[in-house]
Amino acid sequence: EARTLGQGQMRVFRPEMETRVRRRRQVERSIRDGILRNRFSLHYQPLVRAEDGRTRGFEALMRLTDASGKPISPGEFIPAAEDIGAIDQLGAWALHEATAAAAQWPEPLTVAVNLSVEQFRDGGLIASVRSALDASGLAPERLELEVTESLLISNVEEVEAQLEDLKALGVSLAMDDFGTGYSSLSYLWRFRFDRLKLDRSFVLAFDQKPDRARTTISAIIALGRRLDMKVTAEGVETRSQAEALVDLGCDNLQGFYFGAPMPEAQLREVMRWEAEAEHDLAPPRKRPA
Ligand code: C2E
Ligand code: MG
Ligand code: MG
Ligand code: MG
Repeated sequence: EARTLGQGQMRVFRPEMETRVRRRRQVERSIRDGILRNRFSLHYQPLVRAEDGRTRGFEALMRLTDASGKPISPGEFIPAAEDIGAIDQLGAWALHEATAAAAQWPEPLTVAVNLSVEQFRDGGLIASVRSALDASGLAPERLELEVTESLLISNVEEVEAQLEDLKALGVSLAMDDFGTGYSSLSYLWRFRFDRLKLDRSFVLAFDQKPDRARTTISAIIALGRRLDMKVTAEGVETRSQAEALVDLGCDNLQGFYFGAPMPEAQLREVMRWEAEAEHDLAPPRKRPA
């Protein structure tokens, strides 16, 4: 079906668009339902030290299932939750849940929690982080907050003030998915991030143009170093990628090769394995999960 809007203009309504809108409504319903019926959970993915292959912490990643138990991906429900104004509540829940979990882990294991840009708009972020730390008793140094470059595009002053307040609480800050947004270089110097997380696309580039990938990644690592940041590579799926990234000087590695995101109940197994296993530069072969 097509409808004319004016001279020379035409908007075409396609069945895919209708499907997309219907799907979006469904996801929004699943979010509201999920909040009422506790269908949200956190999975945890290991962050591994490059020097010895040991786990230094876990990133908390939000999960949601619909009424039939089918998972909805964060790539789908996070933007929808931002749109319907549910992300502040969900973000605060994630902070409480993740810090409570990490407080039970052996020290000095850390937990990383992703923050949405929207959480910087409502004014309650600092209080929410402080309340999660107080309630859990987790040492602030063991909490890392991940933000993406999109945060740095608008309201720079306002965002900067909140990042400073977060640092003052003693938590550390990571720039996530680094290198995918256009703001990356223009704002990096302004904030004191503790960590850069190199986007997965750079790791994938290894398999396509190894030499150019190597040059780009080592330049980013050098930049990170000069700005006093640790560098994590995300999306490491193979041993050869891991080895190449270790060679280039990445401080930490994360990806399916080391472990997929897993429910909290499964972490104990990883921790037990960690305590017993021998480690070396190259990541271990028999890692569970
Ligand atoms: P992210 O923070 O960059 O998280 C890393 C994503 O990469 C996760 O996807 C993880 O499952 C996936 N991943 C990890 N290792 C590999 C690998 O080796 N290969 C591949 N192909 N993928 C890997 P996930 O869990 O689907 O989350 C997607 C995004 O949703 C996250 O990207 C983050 O931006 C957002 N997100 C997840 N949980 C939360 C949350 O609690 N709050 C907010 N605001 N955003 C969240
Ligand atoms: Mg992240
Ligand atoms: Mg990331
Ligand atoms: Mg990513």
